[in-house]
Amino acid sequence: MKIIDTHAHIVCDKLFLDVDNIIQNALSKGVIKILCICTNKTEVERALTLQQRYDFIDIAYGVHPADLHIATEDDFILLEQLLKENKIIAVGEIGLDYHWNVVSKSQQIDSFVRQISLANKYHRPVLIHMRDATKDCVDTILAHCKTKGIMHCFSGSLETAKILVDFGFYISFGGILTFKNANNLLEVAKSLPKDKIFVETDCPYLAPVPYRGKVNEVAFIHATFAFLEKLRNESLSDQLIENYEKLFYGKN
Ligand SMILES: [Zn+2]
Ligand SMILES: [Zn+2]
Repeated sequence: MKIIDTHAHIVCDKLFLDVDNIIQNALSKGVIKILCICTNKTEVERALTLQQRYDFIDIAYGVHPADLHIATEDDFILLEQLLKENKIIAVGEIGLDYHWNVVSKSQQIDSFVRQISLANKYHRPVLIHMRDATKDCVDTILAHCKTKGIMHCFSGSLETAKILVDFGFYISFGGILTFKNANNLLEVAKSLPKDKIFVETDCPYLAPVPYRGKVNEVAFIHATFAFLEKLRNESLSDQLIENYEKLFYGKN
């Protein structure tokens, strides 16, 4: 079984100290690629160093909506620089977070649109964080995105998922899928076409059952992946790798 983790914060402070172990554990569970999500310059520097040691690491960077109160102009300049130098394969995570609401909604939308525009300019996919902001987030995507993208750690309705999939987006499932109260999400995960889905850990957050409550790590993705395969009653390994290559490397 080969699995790609499409959303892992392995360079965050919490995981980076132990990153070599985390990667070895992941490899032992069949992980063949990790999309490393960076939310600031320090994390980008860590990821670039890591990539020299592990060639199966891809990098994404974006200014997270829950970090906008501490983000500076330099953080946005960094995004364009990384795109120009071809150092990241995606812009994200970006989006709207009305749960934390660290800055106003209109400021969040401005930063979101600004980063979508850069993704458009450099033809890179976007990785979307959407929390308690479904309508504004979907509206912004439909109005501005000219590239494809992934709804990371999706927990919305089937209706929302279908709108986004019709628009060309992919839906990614994290540990929440395995939680007991995830009934609506099960319906989403069962119904979408298999060429439009991904799995992820979003580690260190939201560890799947049976690891729930622990610090999440990449290796735990096998639990979410197995859960999804069982739910859909089909094997997904080759398909999800194909989805990744199609979206990020333009392979058909
Ligand atoms: Zn997120
Ligand atoms: Zn994340």
